[in-house]
Amino acid sequence: MPLPVGLLALQGDFEMHRQALARAGLETLPVRRPDELARAGGLVIPGGESTTLSRLIDRGGLRAPLREFVSSGRPVLGTCAGLIMLSRGLVGERHETWHGVQPLALLDVTVRRNGYGRQIDSFTEDLVLTDGLQDGGPCRAVYIRAPRLEDIGPGVEVIARRPDGEPVGVRADNVVGLTFHPELGDDGRFHALLSG
Ligand code: GLN
Repeated sequence: MPLPVGLLALQGDFEMHRQALARAGLETLPVRRPDELARAGGLVIPGGESTTLSRLIDRGGLRAPLREFVSSGRPVLGTCAGLIMLSRGLVGERHETWHGVQPLALLDVTVRRNGYGRQIDSFTEDLVLTDGLQDGGPCRAVYIRAPRLEDIGPGVEVIARRPDGEPVGVRADNVVGLTFHPELGDDGRFHALLSG
């Protein structure tokens, strides 16, 4: 039996991820503590509010275990606020004003929180995907107060773009980060990456 996919269930829209993983044929395990993380074969860090997520990761003693989890090679998917937590830093805000967000620095990218401003802080659009993800036709992406990817490190591959070419999905080894919400909609191809 494959190990279940852990779903960081501290805050945010983890229930929709559970349903998306189920559609991809994957069992899930809610993760709130290090011992639960240890039983997971992969992990989703959902969207939500990165300020809250960051605080709850520290309160739950999950920071070091999350680092170990990634170095063990198990697949990790971070979406929206989850991507912010995986990043190595925030831009557009002075360090003292990251509003308590302490990213995990597990993906060599920087992000700009709420990068699309207030007027269009939510929108839906088709993605342009890399070759490996194209099977299954067009893929609709939902952006909700989404971060923008800024610096993308040399070892990080862009796997999804907006029609204008802006990167919105990246992968480095076993870590995938998306600025949008793949769990909202019926497309399971990003969740399928967690099957390991
Ligand atoms: N704007 C949120 C943040 O900065 C992220 C929004 C989301 O996850 N949908 O954390």
